[in-house]
Amino acid sequence: MTAEIVVAGERPQALATALSQLDAAAGRLHLDEGIHQMLRHCKRELVVHFPVQMDDGTTRVFEGFRVQHNLSRGPAKGGLRYHLNVCLDEVRALAMWMTWKSAVVNLPYGGAKGGVVVEPRSLSETELENLTRRYATEISIIIGPDEDIPAPDMGTDGRIMAWIMDTISMHRGHTVTGVVTGKPVSVGGTLGRAEATGRGLQYVVEEVAKQFGVTLEGATVAVQGFGNVGSVAALLLTRAGAKVVAVSDSSSGLYNGRGLGIEALTALAGDHAPMARASGGDHISNEELLALPVDFLIPSALEGQLTGENAAAVQARYVVEGANGPTTPDADAVFGERGITVIPDILANAGGVIVSYFEWVQDLQAYFWEEGEVNERLHRVITRAYKDVARMAEEQSVTMREAAMLLGVSRVVEATKIRGIYP
Ligand code: GLU
Repeated sequence: MTAEIVVAGERPQALATALSQLDAAAGRLHLDEGIHQMLRHCKRELVVHFPVQMDDGTTRVFEGFRVQHNLSRGPAKGGLRYHLNVCLDEVRALAMWMTWKSAVVNLPYGGAKGGVVVEPRSLSETELENLTRRYATEISIIIGPDEDIPAPDMGTDGRIMAWIMDTISMHRGHTVTGVVTGKPVSVGGTLGRAEATGRGLQYVVEEVAKQFGVTLEGATVAVQGFGNVGSVAALLLTRAGAKVVAVSDSSSGLYNGRGLGIEALTALAGDHAPMARASGGDHISNEELLALPVDFLIPSALEGQLTGENAAAVQARYVVEGANGPTTPDADAVFGERGITVIPDILANAGGVIVSYFEWVQDLQAYFWEEGEVNERLHRVITRAYKDVARMAEEQSVTMREAAMLLGVSRVVEATKIRGIYP
């Protein structure tokens, strides 16, 4: 019998979204067609197939990717995703978004992303470690503290980053902490990284509230996705006085108009998709959650959640993107017409990569900061970026997404032009 290899399917939607956003920015910036074409393509794409020894003695072959979209502003940076839906086009889109995200918040990085086609929960701890160490070895030819620095994304965490750091360190013969970020604090991680994306979202919501005169105290919030991003954002926004009325995961949504007990729900977040078993509210569907009349809707799950089909049903005043690429261009157009403000992923969820940058800087200097300093600097960087984008939106009479794209793309183009085209 031939052993089954799980390889990626074709799912072009995320890449189509990313390209359409780039094309719109290129048009507004009157970009040179050659530079535009360069930015539509990823600089370097590594596809790997590798064997993993399973607990039952069999060998299974997995497919993985590491894609570097652009390196004009510095080493490549971006997460690693372990998910059955990972495919090359999705990784390309996610790498492209990392380029703009790093540029919008002004980090000295280019953009990259990686992933393995796998359902990590179907593996034992040993199988997960074997898969991670072998995948790290396969991509070791293009990653490194000066080249390309992976981090956690969906399906990966600090434990997986520690295995990658250890694997690369074993190859090089000495400890290389700066090769990945999102590591546990005991092995060169930074305080504040685990909560950074959710905390960044909180700071962004506070800026939206300030800009548009919304009182955060009692403002209603619905959060789609209860992973590392959604659960932390829900908790921190609750502590900041907002009323989180709905949350969801892949199993169910939970709604309570008086506000959910987020502290108790967060305690369940370690379990796989706990919402179907959770209490304290009424169970609602994903589509019902997206259509709730709330002040803030925070999609923090997968790409392509808000589409031309369901955008007309959205009743939120502000959509703050915790996920990467949750809104399709069709949905953006509907939101634009209906006066719904979208704070784009490349700004709203940049807290993760901002604190990854702080971790990398601390690793390179082997000098570690206190948590208060990390959070304070995160606040400074993300609020400055918010103001830069808001100013651009105002000056150019464009949406926050269009403004963020103009800012991100123009910074990358400027670096490319100043460096010149080699040779
Ligand atoms: N995966 C996160 C993102 O999409 C973090 C990337 C990083 O820290 O490099 O922004």
